[in-house]
Amino acid sequence: MRLQPLRYSFRLELTAEPQGLKPLFRTCSLSTAKAVPLTKLSLKQLETVTMKYCKFLSSSGTPRYANLEDRNGVLWAASLMEPPVEDLATQLAILNAPEPFTAAPLSSLKLLPPVTPSKIVCVGRNYKEHAAELGNEVPKEPLLFLKPPSSLLAPGGTVRMPALSKRIDYEGELAIVVGKRCSRLSPAEDTRSYIRGYTIVNDVTARDIQKSDGQWTRGKGWDTFCPAGPIVALTDPDEIDPLNGGPVTVTTRLNGQVKQHGSTADLIFPLDFLLRYISASITLEPGDLIPTGTPAGVGPVQPGDTVEVEVTGLGVLRNTFATE
Ligand code: ZN
Repeated sequence: MRLQPLRYSFRLELTAEPQGLKPLFRTCSLSTAKAVPLTKLSLKQLETVTMKYCKFLSSSGTPRYANLEDRNGVLWAASLMEPPVEDLATQLAILNAPEPFTAAPLSSLKLLPPVTPSKIVCVGRNYKEHAAELGNEVPKEPLLFLKPPSSLLAPGGTVRMPALSKRIDYEGELAIVVGKRCSRLSPAEDTRSYIRGYTIVNDVTARDIQKSDGQWTRGKGWDTFCPAGPIVALTDPDEIDPLNGGPVTVTTRLNGQVKQHGSTADLIFPLDFLLRYISASITLEPGDLIPTGTPAGVGPVQPGDTVEVEVTGLGVLRNTFATE
């Protein structure tokens, strides 16, 4: 069996040809870059990132990572990929159970959460209208809290609703996936090189327990309260650029009905600010997950409900809810 390494990608700046063309920034895989005459390009930055990938369970029950490709508007798992550095369990599983791979549509795979974070650092009340809807002031500094990695749930998985809670809410969010160790970033440092990509998170919350506990750990940290996926992608800065304020939209549907629709342009604390703020006190490791807050429109779910969170360029994270 052959595994492809994490794909390297160039961020390329096209020279102004033909005359008058605005300089463009594009992110290309190596294979794409080879097809372009380099004389017409000036190399802006080299990054060790993947374009798009997923984690899935193979037919023999082994976790795998796959590079994704767009084939006529449908995402396909095109080739196997080496597990990211932080996912030692999958690296071992692959050593012990090599097997062949055939390309398949993403929708046909049994997906797993595409992240193995050492911690999930969340940001509360990062959209003005959401802070207001729960009767809270807009925070003067980012409001950080942790969800444990044990709360992760696969795309398509069922959130188990604890009987102890009488109000469980969805919170659709864009999340950063950290690409390399990140500590005490200086104001001048480019945060882009620390971002491996983005994914979607549903920051499921037992609202009553969040309030009655005071601390948010239990209300936010229950097993299955962090659905994540379906993919990790580094978005194309030509189309969408959440780092610079959008226009990345976060849309949440409850049983098909739109409940949340926000733009990262409305974030109180933008993504690069968050990375600097968090890394000033907490060292971020590769694979760490940073959900960046939820737009207005949070609300309760009932057993049997389906919640879909859609983010520009990242697909749809769909999960159902059931009593424990
Ligand atoms: Zn949240």
